[in-house]
Amino acid sequence: MRGHVPDSPDSHGPPTKIAPRKSGGPPQMSICDRFDRPLRNLRLSVTDRCNLRCSYCMPEENYTWLPREDILDFEEISSLVDRFLELGVSRLRLTGGEPLLRKNLHRLVAMLSPKPGLEDLALTTNAVLLAEQAQELKDAGLGRVTVSLDTLRRDRFEKLTRRPDLDQVLRGIDALEPAGFEGTKIDTVVIRNVNDDELIDLIEYGKRVQAEVRFIEYMDVGGATDWSFERVVSRREMLDTIAEHYGELQSVESGSAPADRYRLPDGTVIGVISSTTEPFCGSCDRSRLTADGRWYQCLYGREGVNLCKPLRDGASNEELQSILRSTWTQRDARGAEDRLRQAARGAYLMPEDLRADPHMEMHTRGG
Ligand code: SAM
Ligand code: SF4
Repeated sequence: MRGHVPDSPDSHGPPTKIAPRKSGGPPQMSICDRFDRPLRNLRLSVTDRCNLRCSYCMPEENYTWLPREDILDFEEISSLVDRFLELGVSRLRLTGGEPLLRKNLHRLVAMLSPKPGLEDLALTTNAVLLAEQAQELKDAGLGRVTVSLDTLRRDRFEKLTRRPDLDQVLRGIDALEPAGFEGTKIDTVVIRNVNDDELIDLIEYGKRVQAEVRFIEYMDVGGATDWSFERVVSRREMLDTIAEHYGELQSVESGSAPADRYRLPDGTVIGVISSTTEPFCGSCDRSRLTADGRWYQCLYGREGVNLCKPLRDGASNEELQSILRSTWTQRDARGAEDRLRQAARGAYLMPEDLRADPHMEMHTRGG
């Protein structure tokens, strides 16, 4: 079955378009959506819980959590991942919530990492628990780690995350290189008057720990109920600040979407992800699977496809494939572009929307 994409059984849907996998290799194909965007990147949220409370993601005191009995076990995740791989997914990112809170995450990594067709297995983490897990994750076959870190100042970290754990995070980052990880990235959400004065400090820190720093525009997604356009620091502004300090930046052609990458005069490469002011919907090949098996085709999408139910009801592999195929081939979402067109733009969601459907939360959807 691998490498073969059967015709869509959904006679009302568009014909199934297929695209070769990016990196060549065996002749496996990705199905494409209505805008020819392949099904390639899957973000797999393994828990909706988190040990930090970042102000742009989890600003509330109380949350509606996913029912525990709905959370997919590792066998169920592995089985769904097989179906995605058969239809073209080749890049998988474990996320959350905080993925390192999921007990025995390294066992899931060991189940996923040898799967044929999987070209990249990565993790996005806040790194609070990374020091103690880095080696077992590497040994289990994890490829790369991205750490989210918004500030290097202890007082600011505590204010931003409502937890006093900066030292643990830094220890976690320090554990990556000895464990054998390469290609580490540090992702920083930049918010005006919060941490926009730390771009240079973070770049210098990235050089010291050999990690590529990527600055992310503040997005109006999930729990960002305090979002406003005034608080967004645009890619243009960030690049001006960086160039003012280091000198002229050179664009690096082989950028790994969604980041635009630039080389500083000393050779250091940094990235900027301008999801808010210059969305990359046109080339978005990402989708997201929540810890309870809801599949979302757009970060802004309100309706997810429940894959847990058919899986637990005993659907065959072909039936699950058919659900994935007919959903993806009909995908026409361009959520960030749609938001950009809205004239009077405030926060996308209010706390009551998030309480009514926690799947709208970034910490449920995986960022
Ligand atoms: N807890 C892990 C972490 O923070 O790395 C993984 C989950 S977190 C939801 C994934 C990413 O989403 C993080 O890099 C976080 O900074 C980002 N994120 C959350 N809310 C955001 C927002 N409003 N704007 C931009 N990025 C956001
Ligand atoms: Fe912060 Fe990630 Fe937790 Fe959200 S899920 S509160 S971004 S650490």
